[in-house]
Amino acid sequence: MSAEETTALSLRYRPLNAQPSTPNSLKTKPSSAWSVAKSEEHYGFKRWGSGHISVDSEGFVNVQPLIDGRGIRVLDVVNEAVGMGLKAPLVIRFQDLLRYRVTQLNAMFNKAIKEERYKASYRGVFPIKVNQLREVVDEIVAAGKDFNFGLEAGSKPELMIALAMHEGAQRLIICNGYKDHDYIRLALLGRKLGKKIIIVVEQLSELDDIIRISAETGVKPMIGFRAKLQTRGEGRWATSTGDNAKFGLNTAEILFAIEKLRAAKLTQSLRLVHFHIGSQVPNILTIKNAVVEATRFYCQLAKMGFPMGYLDVGGGLGIDYDGSRTNFDSSMNYSMEEYARDVVFNIREVCRASDVPEPDIVSESGRAIVAPHSLLVVEVFERINKRESLGHQHQPDEKHKVVVDLESMLKNKGKLGRLERFHDALQKKEEAFSLFNLGYLDLENRAAAESLFWQICEQIAKEGRKTGYQPEELHDLDKLLADQYVCNFSVFQSLLDHWALKQLFPVAPLHRLNEKPTVNAILVDITCDSDGKISSFIDLQDVKDYITLHPLNKKPYYLGVFLTGAYQDIMGDLHNLFGRVNEVHVFLEDDEPNGFYIEEALSGSRIADVIEGVQYQQEDLCRKMKVQIDAATKRDQVKPREGVRLLELYESQMLNKTYLNIEPKSGRKKKA
Ligand SMILES: *Cc1c(COP(=O)(O)O)cnc(C)c1O
Repeated sequence: MSAEETTALSLRYRPLNAQPSTPNSLKTKPSSAWSVAKSEEHYGFKRWGSGHISVDSEGFVNVQPLIDGRGIRVLDVVNEAVGMGLKAPLVIRFQDLLRYRVTQLNAMFNKAIKEERYKASYRGVFPIKVNQLREVVDEIVAAGKDFNFGLEAGSKPELMIALAMHEGAQRLIICNGYKDHDYIRLALLGRKLGKKIIIVVEQLSELDDIIRISAETGVKPMIGFRAKLQTRGEGRWATSTGDNAKFGLNTAEILFAIEKLRAAKLTQSLRLVHFHIGSQVPNILTIKNAVVEATRFYCQLAKMGFPMGYLDVGGGLGIDYDGSRTNFDSSMNYSMEEYARDVVFNIREVCRASDVPEPDIVSESGRAIVAPHSLLVVEVFERINKRESLGHQHQPDEKHKVVVDLESMLKNKGKLGRLERFHDALQKKEEAFSLFNLGYLDLENRAAAESLFWQICEQIAKEGRKTGYQPEELHDLDKLLADQYVCNFSVFQSLLDHWALKQLFPVAPLHRLNEKPTVNAILVDITCDSDGKISSFIDLQDVKDYITLHPLNKKPYYLGVFLTGAYQDIMGDLHNLFGRVNEVHVFLEDDEPNGFYIEEALSGSRIADVIEGVQYQQEDLCRKMKVQIDAATKRDQVKPREGVRLLELYESQMLNKTYLNIEPKSGRKKKA
């Protein structure tokens, strides 16, 4: 076992109730000497950035798409996009980074193949469902040219894309997912054009269809079997394998399928064994076990005399979203290099032991290729501060005893410990609420009690931050006291997995990293859903309940949500009818003043677009409004001139973007 492996294993179990996790830099005495290095450590750029993300000496986040010293200031891209009318929320795609990841994955497999003296090749495919955007698929196909990197489709629309975008006779197309007759006909069309297109049988009934349609059309298919492995996944997609998995053939079904192939005289068509144990597999041991089990299937089939030739290890290669290198759900305890080596090594071992020639290795790594290439930029436009809104200390004319008690608690810290004071304050707050419910406390006194309670909490939390150690109960105080930073975006559109699966993404300011962050906050979006927020953040241990950010000033404050290129930026829904966000595609360019150029700018959804998506017609709505305004004018409720203006307002909004149009605050310089 390598040294690397040992550390990975010893990190396997992260302590559940680990020490409160204020970063060391914040724990020590607040020093005026904040530095960009401290920011780098605080937000963990190096841990999860895989070498692509850094902070420059002026406190701006830089992306190095190729890790060759050429960095792009993300804020430069944001400013250029704003100049083009594309404000945040904004997706930025670094196309060179996409290319880098394709190259890296292939290089890692080729390195492992060479080092392990493996006797066949790597033939990776990109699963289109992970990011279907044309520019993304285009870039991957182009970057994969020298490696014969192919495509994977999981549905008819994706197969339509794969067939047309795919080029080169050696590159594979793998067809997964449920298939109807048309799906199979499309795949055979590809065969007819000479493409290496393999139909993976997920259900026995599909095989009957394939056999029949192949006979009808006279086209010989290439067929794969998806095996239902017993190896259990780990992580969020653990149920993708095992007896109850949705896809795949169990052992009896595989034997049955073999008989069908023999009867149809299609034994020469069976070429591949496939498995997929779920996405974001956090533990390398799961992958090793699954590879061994699937290779056994492969070898058995090869020994029965089928031509075979390909073993497909599916997806699952993870992304270390929190940078902890553990088997925590949002992390992974292995590297891409280790993954490639383990896949190659284990296939070789089983094949040698069974005396079966080694197959070409197919992997369907989607997340690992696309996640790092894009980031979401959101603008914070409001800070909601619980204590401030409550803090305008109400001075009731007649102070109730409970208020007087709380006041003296705040003033006389005495010798009581923090925890004891916290309990006392809690008790008084409860008392105040019961008194209010029973009619013994008026509104003024209730407001005073609430406000005093929060002030005491703040006092206790402040002392705690100085001493470092926090008992569990008091640790929650920081969460309770955290401010809300309101950001112009929708979690449901742009970070669906954070909402649905509690997946963590790294979040950090894109600028001001030479200033010390001092405000603990959670992020809330602009949907009217209370779930529309980010209130769990990456941390080396466990998960953090808040993020420490900079106080807002009069200038725009931008945050980046990183590693969002897989599944997120393409999958969003229309909750509250916030549609697609603005988007720019960035390329490195040495001749440009800022080292980049924007090749493509996609404008986000307009209000007319999203409402037409739910069956309203723009003209129809405008007509209905006109009728109402005309009627109001007749009733003299509005003046004719005003009526015209109201209708203009309504009509012009149709062509506006769905997200908030954040006006520069007074004091901000207006762009000419
Ligand atoms: C989703 C999926 C993938 C992609 O998985 P990643 O973990 O994103 O690499 C690959 N193969 C199949 C069959 C899938 O369903």
